[in-house]
Amino acid sequence: MFFAELGLAPELLRAIADEGYTQPTPIQAQAIPLVIAGRDLLAAAQTGTGKTAAFTLPILQKLNSAVAINGPRLARVLVLVPTRELAAQVGESVRTYGRHLPAMKTAIIFGGVGINPQIDLLKRGVDIIVATPGRLLDHVQQRTVNLSGIQMLVLDEADRMLDMGFIRDIRRVLTVLPKQRQNLLFSATFNGEIRSLAEGLLHNPASVEVAPRNSAVELIAQRVHPVDKARKTALIAHLVKAGDWKQVLVFTRTKHGANRLAEQLVREGIQSDAIHGNKSQNARTRALADFKAGKVRVLVATDIAARGIDIDMLPHVINHELPNVPEDYVHRIGRTGRAGSSGEAISLVSSDERQQLKDIQRLLRREIPSSIIEGFGPGSAPSQAELAARAVPLTPRHEDPRKHANNGRRNDSRNNRPASAGAGRRPGSPSPAKPAHSHGHRQGQPQRDAGSRAGKPR
Ligand code: AMP
Repeated sequence: MFFAELGLAPELLRAIADEGYTQPTPIQAQAIPLVIAGRDLLAAAQTGTGKTAAFTLPILQKLNSAVAINGPRLARVLVLVPTRELAAQVGESVRTYGRHLPAMKTAIIFGGVGINPQIDLLKRGVDIIVATPGRLLDHVQQRTVNLSGIQMLVLDEADRMLDMGFIRDIRRVLTVLPKQRQNLLFSATFNGEIRSLAEGLLHNPASVEVAPRNSAVELIAQRVHPVDKARKTALIAHLVKAGDWKQVLVFTRTKHGANRLAEQLVREGIQSDAIHGNKSQNARTRALADFKAGKVRVLVATDIAARGIDIDMLPHVINHELPNVPEDYVHRIGRTGRAGSSGEAISLVSSDERQQLKDIQRLLRREIPSSIIEGFGPGSAPSQAELAARAVPLTPRHEDPRKHANNGRRNDSRNNRPASAGAGRRPGSPSPAKPAHSHGHRQGQPQRDAGSRAGKPR
């Protein structure tokens, strides 16, 4: 199958050739003709499958073939996305694929940045709006956007939007759109909530599903390294240094954990930065640019912040902790091995994460090979260098650490050690100096860490 067979204009075929794509991906081959034909679409596809081009190309095709409009125009296409990063990325794709259609104008609308430049842009007239729901509603309320000309609506990563609590915002946006329009819904997962959204939104939709959802991850070499929680940071530093890795994306479950890990790696001499929702848009953009340029070797990210990070040939992804939601694992590792390039995804798994690992393996329908990195297996003691790096008054090894834990004065008080030391340890959790044989991992009793499993990691 070739792009030329999909009914796309020569300008779009040129842009596709510029990108070096030779063949449509399965989601593109299925979705593009349906969208051009005007069908509503329910598409099961996740990041890494080429889904962005699967809706962007036919949108451009349709806009291009419609009667040319002179003077100020009304936006005809609205793409709703869950995050700023994804908005930027989808907007970038529209510009990339539309580069030989210079008259086509796109506005990328998201929060966390000044609203006035967006107002100016919208006033001048655009064809396509790519937006996050919250900021779009700000414009609706201020009457700085006119959505009365929308003919096509795309909900991209609809499951994420629902996860992030955007359902009411989405419904409010729907009320200001013309009733007659084409609707496309893309989602990686389908639960009851998505289905009910889809039922209310789509009219006689065509369904498109790309091969099992792990197809995108087949090229990725996956490995699990069992390790104690308290030694995960040291293991990451070891892997990065020993492998001389230059570009590593590390996932943590929490924003705080992301900061702490980045700080600690910097102290280990590894140039690192963190991106998450508490950072300003400028800080995130800068961190990402530094990472892409090779100035930052390790980028630590939370799931949400990492959505939409699009780096060709990202060679290494590390899960500092496994995600609670198994689908997030697929999203995370889909950051590497994109569109044909191979990559490596490593998960550091402590004894309390066995259930998550099981759930992920069930989703993938396969076991992920597991191996112990010498010196970092569960229960192995930290090296002298590691101990020295932790600014903690350590319990002498021959002493029972519980004695200290029980004496009411916690060793890991925030006042007497930097926040980054002993990453992952909580008050009362096993001391890193605890002897090897006492770790739960060997004893077959999975421990649930109620604190870190409670709620979603966002
Ligand atoms: P997406 O699933 O939209 O996030 O796209 C994943 C990656 O695949 C992006 O980096 C695209 O540039 C790339 N891509 C999209 N379509 C193709 C194609 N037909 N051939 C090769 N790469 C593609």
